[in-house]
Amino acid sequence: MGSFKSTLHANGKDEVLEHGVAVIATGATPLMPSEYAYGKDACILTSLELDRKFMNDDPLLKTLKSAVFIQCVGSREPDRPYCSRVCCTHSVENALELKHRNPDMNVYVLYRDIRTYGEREYLYKEARENGVIFIRFSVDDKPQVVLDNGRLTVRVKDHILGRPLELETDLITLATAIVPNRDEKLANFFKVPLNADGFFVERHAKLGPSEFATDGVFLCGMAHYPKPIDESIVQGKAAASRAVTLLAREIIQTSGTIAEVVPTTCSSCGVCVSICPYSAPSFIEEAARFNPGKAQINPVLCKGCGLCVASCRSGAIRLKGFDNDQIFAQIFALNEAV
Ligand code: SF4
Ligand code: SF4
Repeated sequence: MGSFKSTLHANGKDEVLEHGVAVIATGATPLMPSEYAYGKDACILTSLELDRKFMNDDPLLKTLKSAVFIQCVGSREPDRPYCSRVCCTHSVENALELKHRNPDMNVYVLYRDIRTYGEREYLYKEARENGVIFIRFSVDDKPQVVLDNGRLTVRVKDHILGRPLELETDLITLATAIVPNRDEKLANFFKVPLNADGFFVERHAKLGPSEFATDGVFLCGMAHYPKPIDESIVQGKAAASRAVTLLAREIIQTSGTIAEVVPTTCSSCGVCVSICPYSAPSFIEEAARFNPGKAQINPVLCKGCGLCVASCRSGAIRLKGFDNDQIFAQIFALNEAV
């Protein structure tokens, strides 16, 4: 389907790989928060930083008597209107982990909406049963973090009591947003779409969830949208299996109604290369023996949509089966019939 060359840079060396398909799995990054006094106290962490403390069995964890989790930090706000999807489950899991280590500890989760979807709902139920307290807040009235001589306090308005609460705590964990890499260069290269948030958009949510409209280009993981590791793995396997299905074919059959460039008429303007939604046109390399610098169309990728034919100002592209002569013959025949 494709004929790509990728250069890998590692240990000061370059290695060029040639490949026929590509899987876009560029991931995403966690937001580094600028609110809730993050960075001003060693006991205000992001969820990943708390994970690291669990992994290292950090001594701080043994001293805790109270912990507060604040959800939707940077998510579902004007700059990032999407839900980051993994943070509710992540906080509930970490809240349970703290409760398992010290059942007498006070653990609060301050949330706007809890989205522990699917079977993760059981974790939410378990957290409630283990005494984790969930307090809802509104985006217009966010919790306030107060630092006073090394003491941490979180102020939040309880929407059921209708009263402000003050929670003295030893640890604050911020469930920060997942931020897409918004790789427009890559998107333009492969002619694949990014949505307004900066995530790549699949061909079809149900019929093509791990592929793009451009044949031979696939996607998986958080490059697509925020998702937990199990869903990323499933999508990675789906993308790999779709890619292998293509690579395993000895013969690829194409439609006959595809576009073709007449090189003598092509003025190398590049309109067809930029307009085709399937990345089918490209320029013939300057070093080529025939028609260097002229456009050519990869017949395997062309879907025969006719966009380039209508856009080529030099009239250098014909759509097989829909030549001007054929169209005019139909119009004249219709005229005579009338
Ligand atoms: S739009 Fe027409 S003239 Fe321009 S590069 Fe393509 S085929 Fe050539
Ligand atoms: S006919 Fe459509 S799919 Fe084929 S090269 Fe032209 S724009 Fe691309």
